[in-house]
Amino acid sequence: MAEAQARDIILCDLDAFFASVEQRDHPEYRGRPVIVGGSASSRGVVSTCSYEARRFGVHSAMPMARAVKLCPGAIFLPGNMKLYRAVSEQVMALYERFTPDIEAVSIDEAYLAVPRGEGLKTAAKIRRAVRDELELPLTAGVSTNKLLAKIACGMAKPDGLDSLWPEEVPQKLWPLPLKVLPGIGPVSAEKLHRVGIKTVGDLAATPESVLVQQLGQAAAAECRQHARGIDSRPLEPVRQAKSFSEEQTFATDVAGPEALKAVLMEQAEELGYRLRAAGMRARTVGLKLRFADYTTITRDVTLAEATDRDSEIYRVTVQLFERCGGEGPWRLAGSRVSNLETSRQLTIFAPPPGAVKEDKLGEVRDRLRNKYGTEVLFRARRLAGSEAGHRKPGR
Ligand SMILES: [Mg+2]
Repeated sequence: MAEAQARDIILCDLDAFFASVEQRDHPEYRGRPVIVGGSASSRGVVSTCSYEARRFGVHSAMPMARAVKLCPGAIFLPGNMKLYRAVSEQVMALYERFTPDIEAVSIDEAYLAVPRGEGLKTAAKIRRAVRDELELPLTAGVSTNKLLAKIACGMAKPDGLDSLWPEEVPQKLWPLPLKVLPGIGPVSAEKLHRVGIKTVGDLAATPESVLVQQLGQAAAAECRQHARGIDSRPLEPVRQAKSFSEEQTFATDVAGPEALKAVLMEQAEELGYRLRAAGMRARTVGLKLRFADYTTITRDVTLAEATDRDSEIYRVTVQLFERCGGEGPWRLAGSRVSNLETSRQLTIFAPPPGAVKEDKLGEVRDRLRNKYGTEVLFRARRLAGSEAGHRKPGR
């Protein structure tokens, strides 16, 4: 589905994850070295340690006995995998608000794909959301493939955000030591050092035949590709979004129903786009409204047939708005689609009049949007009321 589209890849990696969860839940641990892992007496190893502990030379996979020697004043914890898994689930659920294309690679690391041009902006929003809602530090690296996103993430750690675009490879990647490339371990690095290859740039400039002698055929080819920033591995999503939502809190309460409907139109377009990009259709469409007195209502409707059309989503949210939107003014409006199913199913109903034309138009718009980014196309239709608002993609 989306593989053919140009996308940005974000690697999201929680910093010192287990230790950060412990420091979050136990304020008395904050600012102190925290080491999570097996016990020294049973020859355990360090699973994760806080950045405070890393300053003493402690790192993960180190024998715990050695960590105790290096940092005797640390807080040593056996860890609570059940808790860490639950927090990881919360983090992944938060990512789903931003994109359905997520490949979780470990309990604290995931690749996300977003439309080309939106990587940095989305990564910044994700970092803020993880910080505000889950109180955890997250580092994100952005590029157009997994390899460069991973390296960018490494450069940004801890608690940072960086990008490494393919055109920046000679200037930013080549001066770095070999070890920044995933896949070059200490043994390979040592072999390459011996023949004078010290930086990624040296590696990129070395003829493949020389590398084959040092590393073997398969590894040599891969290393050369990586040194030039090339990585063709696709994102392999293992999670499917359960819903998409869009909501806006208005800087100034919106008073007129027409202004509010304009916001709903914008949200319907956004949700329709996200559904089509994910190859999904929604059977349930919902509306959320918050009034000036902070009363909040949510309502939804389940449709006879799932949809990915802007006009259908808009029709339903407006219907709900007219039924239970009251008089206003409104502080917040949100639209949500859920009950998702994979599209391209045979429909037992004939498409409604105009639907075929809209599908075609939608396709053209989606293509333009993938090419030029979110903001370009829809600006013209937004009214002052929604421009003043603060948009927040949500679950
Ligand atoms: Mg991590």
